[in-house]
Amino acid sequence: MIATGAISTCKLLIGGEWVESGSSRFGLIHNPSLGEVIARVPFCDSSEVDRAVRAAHAAFAAWRETPVVERARIMFRYKQLLEENLEDVARLITREHGKTLEESRASMRRGIEVVEFACGIPNMIQGRTLQNLAADVDCETYLHPVGVCVGITPFNFPAMVPMWMFPIAVTCGNTFILKPSERVPLSAIRIVELLLEAGLPKGVISIVHGDRECVDALLTHPLVRAISFVGSTRVAHHIYTTGTAHGKRVQANGGAKNHLIIMPDADIEKTVAAVQSSAFGCAGERCMAGSLALPVGAAAEPLVRGLVDSANRMKVGRTDTDAAVDMGPLITKEHLERVSLCIEKGRQEGATLARDGRGVRVPDAPQGFYLGPTIIDHVRPGMFVAEEEIFGPVLSVLRVGSLDEAVEIADRCPFGNGAVIYTRSGYAARQFKHRFNAGMIGINVGVPAPMALFSFTGWNASFFGDLHIQGPEAVRFYTQEKVIMTRWHESGMAGGEFVVSRG
Ligand code: NAD
Repeated sequence: MIATGAISTCKLLIGGEWVESGSSRFGLIHNPSLGEVIARVPFCDSSEVDRAVRAAHAAFAAWRETPVVERARIMFRYKQLLEENLEDVARLITREHGKTLEESRASMRRGIEVVEFACGIPNMIQGRTLQNLAADVDCETYLHPVGVCVGITPFNFPAMVPMWMFPIAVTCGNTFILKPSERVPLSAIRIVELLLEAGLPKGVISIVHGDRECVDALLTHPLVRAISFVGSTRVAHHIYTTGTAHGKRVQANGGAKNHLIIMPDADIEKTVAAVQSSAFGCAGERCMAGSLALPVGAAAEPLVRGLVDSANRMKVGRTDTDAAVDMGPLITKEHLERVSLCIEKGRQEGATLARDGRGVRVPDAPQGFYLGPTIIDHVRPGMFVAEEEIFGPVLSVLRVGSLDEAVEIADRCPFGNGAVIYTRSGYAARQFKHRFNAGMIGINVGVPAPMALFSFTGWNASFFGDLHIQGPEAVRFYTQEKVIMTRWHESGMAGGEFVVSRG
């Protein structure tokens, strides 16, 4: 970081050196708890992106030849450093993002699990062999790294989402350029500093900052081979179409509208706790957050009553002190205003506000970007709050008569990230998991986000691409297969005929 007056400016990491950007365009980074600017981030242009890509391409030649066990050893050291620095990084995440310290720690744990997964890549990057595929012909396969890979990440998990990508990409032998969210780049910078400390050679990982100009320069650069993206559906679609049109492999995770189906036989106390944490955890700024509850029949009344009671007990406040709070602020003032407008739209369309979180007061932080937990009841299909991703602590409740009706409503939703059923019936759970049109399904859990050993399998408008982020599919994404067919003919050797004895 370089300091200009009171606030500092993020640097770029190019060819292993932290360098100042020449850009004259900047974004501001806030502490959302206080609504104060804490740093600024430069917006790179295509010439700075070109420098970073060329340096990453130059570093690839030696890195791909480094034995995979040596690459994995760096990940073992990295895991240790992340553990030792977990508390500091978690505080940084909370400072620039606003989620509670407990949520930041949990997100770091999830990120470290990906590093642990990467430690095992020597076992996952092995090829296959088959003798006598044809007469006297043997076949073998190898997985090769693809080259310069890029990661473009969203604001809502400042460290965890970048860690979904680069530990796997670099351990597979690629070099990697991270373009973190311009709203929360500080934690991403810190976790990359720790990776350099773990011994990653210069140029294997780089950081550029910016907005669309920077991203488009990465998407179209001829030396970039693969692009991983996580963010909104609109941008994911742009990334996918532009990246693939320029010959790159792309995996692009988009937005979501996640359905929670509550059957009348559900354990209501446990279900209320799970739905509350799903909808309001991380202030609803999670792509797997429960966003539309579909209580079936008699489940509706106790569910809404229970949720309002528990939401009333939630403490909303500053997360950047050690005070115990259940929910922090939203990311920016603009986002707070957008989410507030979504709530108003629901009311205008005829839904009822069982709990309105607008106007929540946090006396020691009057400029912070706060919104209390909000529950919109009697939502009907077709309403804005039933269809659109809101990305705040807002749960819409759409009452239905049967599981079939809930599944039909959800089927019309363009997204397909996650969905959960709450029930004691194995039959209902089985119907749901088989029929529901989404990639990540939960039964009686809060958020069915898979851990590092499994891929993050969004469907429909929640994902563009073929191979998903994280888990075994990520190893395939960051490698390309080479197939070798071999036939050896019997031949004379210098000094006499070499005879193979057949026993
Ligand atoms: P965003 O799409 O606005 O930004 C994501 C990244 O794209 C950022 O790095 C940003 O700089 C860049 N970007 C923004 N506009 C761009 C443009 N026009 N052209 C090129 N690049 C652009 O998303 P966000 O607001 O940071 O994050 C919230 C969204 O991310 C939500 O929709 C959420 O559901 C989604 N998300 C999805 C997942 C998932 O795995 N499916 C996980 C986390 C977040």
